Amino acid sequence: MTAVTNGKIVLEDRVLENGVLLIDGERIAAVGNRGEVTLPKDAEILDADGAFVGPGFVDIHVHGGEGALLCDEPERISAHFLRHGETTVLAALYYHMCKEEFLSASRRVREAMESCGNLRGLYMEGPYMNPEFGAMPEKNLWKGEIRRQDYLPILEAAADLAKVWVIAPERDGIEDFLRDVKAAAPAAVISVGHSRATPGEIGGLKKYGIRLLTHCMDATGWRSLWRGTRGAGPDEACLLDDDMYAEVICDSGAVHVNRDLLRLIWKVKGTDKVVLITDSNVTDAESPAHLQKYSDLVFDDNGDLAGSRLTMDAALRNMMEHTGCTVWEAFCMASRNPARVIGMEKEIGTVDAGKFADLVFLDETYNVKNVMLRGILQQKGWNIC
Ligand SMILES: [Zn+2]
Repeated sequence: MTAVTNGKIVLEDRVLENGVLLIDGERIAAVGNRGEVTLPKDAEILDADGAFVGPGFVDIHVHGGEGALLCDEPERISAHFLRHGETTVLAALYYHMCKEEFLSASRRVREAMESCGNLRGLYMEGPYMNPEFGAMPEKNLWKGEIRRQDYLPILEAAADLAKVWVIAPERDGIEDFLRDVKAAAPAAVISVGHSRATPGEIGGLKKYGIRLLTHCMDATGWRSLWRGTRGAGPDEACLLDDDMYAEVICDSGAVHVNRDLLRLIWKVKGTDKVVLITDSNVTDAESPAHLQKYSDLVFDDNGDLAGSRLTMDAALRNMMEHTGCTVWEAFCMASRNPARVIGMEKEIGTVDAGKFADLVFLDETYNVKNVMLRGILQQKGWNIC
């Protein structure tokens, strides 16, 4: 047994000042105020030294970081995100990849999941997006007709690993694809992304499990109705639909989602339905001059945004800074809600008895001091007595 003492424990709706956390093996055994939780005599004491002790971050949308894609170097890159408190990550595969790349990436991630404790599956950003919202290479199979023989091998290779499939509902033939996805992986969450679908088009496919909008207010569009009158697109569909979660990339300069829109998303969706993601990615392209002051953005060769260099600890700080939300609200968006989206809320996402002891320790400026994965402290020996 390990007893974490002298920490500010971040619960779903408050911070327990000077709380106590009991950890038995890889799970949380008890949590409460000092005095309420009985410390076993032989418990090892871990002095949190006043740190915030929150649920490990759950980052469902990670392409890569530190110079490599997560699916190319899963061991090294998942360790990078773990150092930043991400005790759960999903490797995002995307529509730029050809069929063979989807297959080999799925294979590598599957193998790596045996040894990388925080790598828990795939996030399929594609293959069927709207090519208008993402610079697709000229010769890209996924731009053409949706054909079973093209996607079935990917479903076979990835169905049991993929927790999220992102689609553009306006693509012809998407319903056949969704039917096959749900047959192969009934629990998979369907997300709308890189799309200009109307709320009606999205609503028509809800029965297949649409519950998420991929990077809200990014790579989404709408159709003009008549002479500049504004139609509604995926962002509005998500704001309108209480069941849908909104993914948000919260960078330091509020470039992906500007501050007013961030506040609008939070105001409408509430703390329960916002999911922070990093959409962390790697490219060689240079930043456009006017955005070079922001080091946490990634661009493609056309100078378009292609994700971030964020880690979730930074996204959490940015969200608090841009919206004024509290630390426990930010943790709900960075840990609890994404765990709910991928159906893992019974195991992870909050600091509660029975769940895995996946924890992040943050100092008073919300920088990571240490991380615990399944009861194992990553910086060994820290404050143990
Ligand atoms: Zn994307």
